[in-house]
Amino acid sequence: MTALRVAIVGSGPSGFFAAGNLLEQDDVEVQVDVFDRLPTPFGLVRYGVAPDHPAIKSVTKIFDRTAQHENFRYFGNVEVATHVTAAELAQWYDAVIYAIGASGGRRLEVDGAWLPGNHPSSDFVGWYNGHPDRRELDVDLGVERAVVIGNGNVALDAARILVTDTDKLAGTDMADHALRALHGSAVREVVVLGRRGAEQAAFTPAEVAELGKLPGVDVIVDPADVPEEDKERDKARPPVERNNIKQLRRLAAAEPTGADRRIVLRFLRSVVGINGEGKGGPVRSVSIARNELVEGEDGTVEAQPTGHVDEHDAGLVIHAVGYHGTPIPGIPFDTERGVFRNADSRIVGYDGEPLPGHYVVGWIKRGPSGVIPTNRDCARDTVSVLLADAAEGRIPRSAFDGAQVEKLIAERVENLVEYDGWMAIDAHETALAEEHDRPRVKLTSVDEMVDAALGGSGETPA
Ligand SMILES: Cc1cc2nc3c(=O)[nH]c(=O)nc-3n(C[C@H](O)[C@H](O)[C@H](O)COP(=O)(O)OP(=O)(O)OC[C@H]3O[C@@H](n4cnc5c(N)ncnc54)[C@H](O)[C@@H]3O)c2cc1C
Repeated sequence: MTALRVAIVGSGPSGFFAAGNLLEQDDVEVQVDVFDRLPTPFGLVRYGVAPDHPAIKSVTKIFDRTAQHENFRYFGNVEVATHVTAAELAQWYDAVIYAIGASGGRRLEVDGAWLPGNHPSSDFVGWYNGHPDRRELDVDLGVERAVVIGNGNVALDAARILVTDTDKLAGTDMADHALRALHGSAVREVVVLGRRGAEQAAFTPAEVAELGKLPGVDVIVDPADVPEEDKERDKARPPVERNNIKQLRRLAAAEPTGADRRIVLRFLRSVVGINGEGKGGPVRSVSIARNELVEGEDGTVEAQPTGHVDEHDAGLVIHAVGYHGTPIPGIPFDTERGVFRNADSRIVGYDGEPLPGHYVVGWIKRGPSGVIPTNRDCARDTVSVLLADAAEGRIPRSAFDGAQVEKLIAERVENLVEYDGWMAIDAHETALAEEHDRPRVKLTSVDEMVDAALGGSGETPA
């Protein structure tokens, strides 16, 4: 049997883990082409993971090894939907795995959420990480207080970045434009708001503990917001909750040092309105409702407003309230969950029937939750369903071969960046960083990246 030809759309962790898994198979030969809309691979590893968490990014070494496989090709700077349609991919390949992530940001739906000074966390995080789509974002840091809405790790990342000493950030791969802006920042207090209580927080213990260790930053937690120590009750809590509470008790007990910058963690608070200066002017304050917890019929704990609302000055609001995927024409989409419609890793139509040869992996399959290793298990599931379908003849084989497809893509895409092009970008970024003792200096525009991929200076062509 000829090799199975699989296209993977998206080169984030889920796409790369799926590629690695397919190429490791002993009983079937697979050829894998990975597409990404950007010249640079690795998705949120490059554009989401915080710059001051470099160890997390070392997972790319595994992806580099996958890319060295003789049956692997990378087609970067190719957007599926724009340069190539889903219908074409279905014709050109035996199977297509969608791994496009879910990195569109949600905003809280309250009055004033679109005023200048509001940013979904996806935009803010993409801005400081140098995502080409977000490099022009206008983040006004000339304000004293910022509010971060949300209680997950992304909310804590955003809060930490806003108050971390820029001398420390200068040793990371944070985008230069963000470093400059943060260096001149007037932000002195970041208030992080959780709709529910400390026990329901979605962040993890290591992230909350890290806040307490930031030099020059006081972390304020109201002791009344944290359940009192109770050995029996604490023992019965799930481990993440137990350790979160332990860390929060520590922070609540610490005396503020009078540091120049503060992070305030507030629980049982919802933003119910964002107020601008005049009509349509930038954010000047937020209206915050206090909540109480009520237990639903199904046992889940929900926040309910008590009717008490306070107004607090603030000039910057980061909405860290979740992510959603972006539809691709021809692929059935679940608008509510923001994912491709799927069952058991197969993309399914609106009638629930699988679309032959169409699969899904990562955040666009499960929704925006789970850390990088979660995508490894997810990819294993997707690949095993795909291979079982192929073995049982449920996949229609393509009449195209790899050379024909490469020619078609090269005709369509003016500035195709293959893996050696990415390696040239990588070499260029790391060389730029050497004299500054940084891991890399990121190129942030597609033009600069294409230029560096072709062996140029990485400067934007005139
Ligand atoms: C702010 C933030 C911080 C995080 N920090 C951590 C952390 O510290 N540790 C950890 O383990 N996990 C972290 N995560 C979670 C982790 O990043 C995700 O689990 C993981 O990236 C999801 O992988 P994915 O492949 O599904 O999506 P993504 O990583 O989003 O990759 C999707 C890829 O698809 C490409 N793409 C999109 N549309 C198209 C298209 N139409 N055509 C071609 N290509 C397309 C994108 O350019 C991108 O490269 C973080 C997430 C966020 C948002």
